[in-house]
Amino acid sequence: MGGLPLAVKDNICTVEYDTTCGSRILENYRSPYEATAVSRLKAAGGMVACKSNLDEFAMGSSSEHSAFGRVRHPVDAERVPGGSSGGSAALVAAGAVDAALGSDTGGSVRQPAAFCGVVGLKPTYGRVSRYGLIAFGSSLDQIGVIAASVQQAAAVLEVISGRDERDSTCADVDPIDISLDRQDLDGIVVGLPAEYFPSDLDPVTRKACDRAVDAMRRAGAVTRDVSLPHARLAVPCYYVIAPAEASANLARYDGVRYGARVTGQEGGEGVDDLAAMYRATRGAGFGAEVRRRIVVGTHVLSSGYYEAYYTKAQIARGRITRDFTAVFDGGVDVLFTPTTPTTAFKAGELLGDPVAMYLGDVFVCAANLAGIPAISVPIGRANGLPIGGQLMAPVFAEQTLLNVAQVMERVVDGDHELR
Ligand code: GLN
Repeated sequence: MGGLPLAVKDNICTVEYDTTCGSRILENYRSPYEATAVSRLKAAGGMVACKSNLDEFAMGSSSEHSAFGRVRHPVDAERVPGGSSGGSAALVAAGAVDAALGSDTGGSVRQPAAFCGVVGLKPTYGRVSRYGLIAFGSSLDQIGVIAASVQQAAAVLEVISGRDERDSTCADVDPIDISLDRQDLDGIVVGLPAEYFPSDLDPVTRKACDRAVDAMRRAGAVTRDVSLPHARLAVPCYYVIAPAEASANLARYDGVRYGARVTGQEGGEGVDDLAAMYRATRGAGFGAEVRRRIVVGTHVLSSGYYEAYYTKAQIARGRITRDFTAVFDGGVDVLFTPTTPTTAFKAGELLGDPVAMYLGDVFVCAANLAGIPAISVPIGRANGLPIGGQLMAPVFAEQTLLNVAQVMERVVDGDHELR
């Protein structure tokens, strides 16, 4: 990593910079400790050049939900860079840093990477320590890498991966040693899940995918049509489980232990009424999207609704995971899909329609529910706006995932303008 300038998403703790999560409630918050991923990068000679803006607490797909302003798309400032790791993706795409850390709870590394035309890697759940990653949805959160190339992403993963006694959910495995030595895709079976190529898929995105699939076939891959029958449950399932976990994780921001406090009283002196202080602090400290998630999450966990929503979502999660296992056990090495249904949208376009925003995660959030590794690689452009192709692999199969991704990167011209 000798001297490599890196950006670190602002929900990952650093000791030399504030860690705000893009939230008023953590404005000026300086963590007393550093995330394991950051310490490992520094120990390997990397340099944290800056923190990068994000959707507040990583909740969003456009990097418009930050208390400190929106992130602009590196090609077209009127558009969004994707989210929630939009700052990390935009910085890498603009060439300001060589690589960046992001976090991926439901697509937040891959989707902005796709929108900005760079590589976005979400490792297997447990591959990288979450110590120092401020929790959003603890069973889904994973630190990921955004970089200009697959090789660069692999190099960062090697450094940050491996067991960590400070995170009990981090797998007890050695740091991964990746050899990117594949020249072709001979013997590789690429699964194409029907559910990820719906009939109403954006025609340019489909064209880009067709081109990528053809190139992989020419490189020796065998493609196979497969089905992930519960794919349509991924977005509703994710948008129950992620808010449920968020509502529990964000309960700690109460104005007592962390960050800003608003007393709710004239003059702000003293705290006579604790509940009023909580209300005032959380009302002023959290933005609208975070409040929406807390309300949804609290609702789906509340008695009388728990079985109808939370339990059902857990059942759906099991089915989604088993779909992947069945396909991989059937001999598929990697799955190929579009990363996003469209290219980068205009700022403000989806702000008034949260469900439409959530539906943009339709191809990315299942990998988090199943805990499998996934990567987005540029596969073309439409009107100058990048399109990403996603590869997903079985748990802990990053070696295969990254090798296939690198061949794909080489044989598909990611800058090719589609018409
Ligand atoms: N867009 C998703 C959400 O809003 C994913 C966020 C993420 O991966 N951090 O929850």
